[in-house]
Amino acid sequence: MDKIIYLDHAATTPVDEQVLKEMIPYFTTNFGNPSSVYSIGKGNRKKIDKAKKQIADSIGCLPEEIYITSCGSESDNLAIKGIAKANKSKGRHIITSKIEHPAVLETCKKLEAEGFDVTYINVDEKGIIKLDELKRSIRRDTILISIMYANNEIGTIQPIEEIGQIARKNNIYFHTDCVQAVGNIKINAKKQNIDSISISAHKFYGPKGTGALFIRSGIPFMRELDGGHQEKNKRAGTENVAGIIGMGKAIEIADENLEEYNKRLKFLRDLYVKSVIDKIQYIHINGDMKNRLPGNSNISFLGIRGATLVEELDKRGICASSGSACSAGIIQPSNVILATGCKRNIAESSLRITFGRENTVEDVRYLVDCISDIVDKYRN
Ligand code: PLP
Repeated sequence: MDKIIYLDHAATTPVDEQVLKEMIPYFTTNFGNPSSVYSIGKGNRKKIDKAKKQIADSIGCLPEEIYITSCGSESDNLAIKGIAKANKSKGRHIITSKIEHPAVLETCKKLEAEGFDVTYINVDEKGIIKLDELKRSIRRDTILISIMYANNEIGTIQPIEEIGQIARKNNIYFHTDCVQAVGNIKINAKKQNIDSISISAHKFYGPKGTGALFIRSGIPFMRELDGGHQEKNKRAGTENVAGIIGMGKAIEIADENLEEYNKRLKFLRDLYVKSVIDKIQYIHINGDMKNRLPGNSNISFLGIRGATLVEELDKRGICASSGSACSAGIIQPSNVILATGCKRNIAESSLRITFGRENTVEDVRYLVDCISDIVDKYRN
């Protein structure tokens, strides 16, 4: 096998060459601590400020409303725990959805153990949250709504504007996990009434280990990581200067090329889905084909476990993913697909393919041929 075909861009993306080029000097010559008073330190502080402006410009907020973190999970933790703990005198009720990433679900569980009350909203058969249920769940003590912008498994995009309006009308803070959305969807925190956004650089061709959190100014939130006074006293730790510079550059590139990239991703994704429909029987398409991330596809191939498909594809040089996880030797079906009302056999047999900038039509053809062979082999 001479070539790897990478089709798991929702898991992570390679670092863009231009991004890497901007980052390299900050590991070696420009290594100063941004809190230092000498010039190689102060210069790096300016670079961090520039990156915050690049991020803020991308999501329609102010640079001073951006806090740097280490990843999307940290951003989710800081936003949800931070806002909940700082506002608990107003109420202890939080609303989220059943299809959030574990970074949100586990954070909510932790808060439940600490005396908060969490409502988990259902989704419909396409994976879209039920707005009526959201409205009905609001209580006098609701302080926070946390609903993801786009789902990591089935790519479904939520009605964020409507959720923002509901939250604003009811005077509730609205956090959205945008880890899968940033770089794929144009977001505007102000126009969409969003109070808090989680971001992770490695999902849009930036480096791993770098994330960001937007929290609208004036919203009280408590820090999670104690120590120095970095990030306006909200998150201690010497800044990952190279990573932050890379995140700023990566978000700028994604924004400048958003339309072109999306058109291409959508073309490859649609070609893949159509080819599968034409060639393979007994499939189930998970998620919504309209309100969906451009490069995301999630199809269940009945009778074959998703994990088996992923292993077989790997033998053929293809990196893909399945929503089902193997825990202690037992296959756990995708909780996201189960939440859409699908039966266990569908949730166990899903294959997530997420296209990226470097993929080609030849990759799609090879992928469909491989899946077709594997399906034949296992169904027979
Ligand atoms: N939220 C969503 C929707 C994700 O897809 C992910 C990662 O896959 C995360 C949060 C966590 O991000 P990170 O891996 O940067 O911690």
